[in-house]
Amino acid sequence: MNLHSGTPFWLANNGIAPARPTLAAPEQCDVVICGAGVTGALVADALTAAGRDVVIIDRRESGLGSTAASTALLQYEIDVELIALGEMIGKEQAARAYRASARAVTQLAQLVAPLEGCDFQPRHSLYLASTRRDAKRLRAESDARSAIGIETEWWPRERVKARYGFPSYGAIRSQPAGEIDALALTRALLARAIANGARWYEQTNARGYEERAGGVRLLTDNGVHIDARRAVCATGYDLPKFLAQDSVTLHSTYALATERLTHFGAWDDRCLVWESARPYTYMRTTDDRRVIVGGEDVPFRDAAWRDRLLPTKTRKLEERLARLLPSIATETAFEWAGTFAETKDGLPFIGRDARYPGFLFALGYGGNGITFSAIAAELLTAECLGEGSPDADLYRMDR
Ligand SMILES: Cc1cc2nc3c(=O)[nH]c(=O)nc-3n(C[C@H](O)[C@H](O)[C@H](O)COP(=O)(O)OP(=O)(O)OC[C@H]3O[C@@H](n4cnc5c(N)ncnc54)[C@H](O)[C@@H]3O)c2cc1C
Repeated sequence: MNLHSGTPFWLANNGIAPARPTLAAPEQCDVVICGAGVTGALVADALTAAGRDVVIIDRRESGLGSTAASTALLQYEIDVELIALGEMIGKEQAARAYRASARAVTQLAQLVAPLEGCDFQPRHSLYLASTRRDAKRLRAESDARSAIGIETEWWPRERVKARYGFPSYGAIRSQPAGEIDALALTRALLARAIANGARWYEQTNARGYEERAGGVRLLTDNGVHIDARRAVCATGYDLPKFLAQDSVTLHSTYALATERLTHFGAWDDRCLVWESARPYTYMRTTDDRRVIVGGEDVPFRDAAWRDRLLPTKTRKLEERLARLLPSIATETAFEWAGTFAETKDGLPFIGRDARYPGFLFALGYGGNGITFSAIAAELLTAECLGEGSPDADLYRMDR
């Protein structure tokens, strides 16, 4: 289960949406989407826009999985750097993966433009070199990203210091990037999907399935089923029990949001900031003038242990923030913990799995899962429309 403790900033800020109808009678549709977080919402929006008949279910309230805990930096940058990814999966594939993520961030910016209240802001991303050795590597990384068409500049440490005051050994400054309210985005997309004909049920747990001629029957705890030509599994790292639990590494992660600030000092362009140390610390600002800082990841053991660490981790994040912004006094307003899943190559699992005919997977694992959710929406829509996608191989389930 995806648990988070403390007061997730987004919940405190937005309130909890009223419960929606629970599935009470059998349904039939082209595509049933299991999981109404940001991934399920993006897939539902894309499929309904393409004219598909969609049912979307969630076992609790929509968006209250990792989406509600997300600090929602929108980045094209995969946790595995471009050069390192090239060594793992091949240079051409790595370049495609980076370009696909950059395209997804740009597309998210376009998608969100007509939606209200999502607090989207385009930003630059500043990737700080944490050590002298990392600086050397990041310089080459910056060149490699430029060479594949990403808007990237290498800034030496003096330039970073003079412009922002951040201590570092230099930084890659690049775009596209942005920030968003992930829960508001999820709700806005669900509303649009419903307006386009999707049926939406909460408190509806998918507990099993049966293969049927030409599709799949999803069985729910409510004792009723949904017949669909395809079922999309968008359950975050929380794979339904009836599916094999695949090998991903789970991490506990921590974040805090400060009280509102009157100014951000030299950080006046409010770029997204993260670093080459692993695990990394990252920070961004919010539409209502707070700073969100996150990181301090540790391997996930269990929810209770993760939550016990929250006070210590919060103190560490506060210290880190004070080092990054020494001239600005901040006070913590909210702190929370969450869990996320990581793959070896930093890429998500999207597409079919031979073991589960009738299912499509949209498992946007990784630190920049929302970018991957947007990629999943595009790939799975193409799949449901019978169109191929040249990048589908990058995210194969059996890689
Ligand atoms: C603290 C934190 C910070 C993060 N920061 C960032 C960031 O800065 N940028 C970024 O891009 N990503 C970030 N992420 C990752 C990002 O939030 C996730 O990748 C994204 O929210 C995943 O969305 P999702 O819809 O796939 O999963 P979820 O939001 O977890 O939604 C899955 C849904 O499936 C439902 N479900 C599960 N099983 C069933 C079932 N059997 N039947 C019915 N429903 C079911 C759940 O109830 C849940 O609502 C962060 C994550 C955390 C925890």
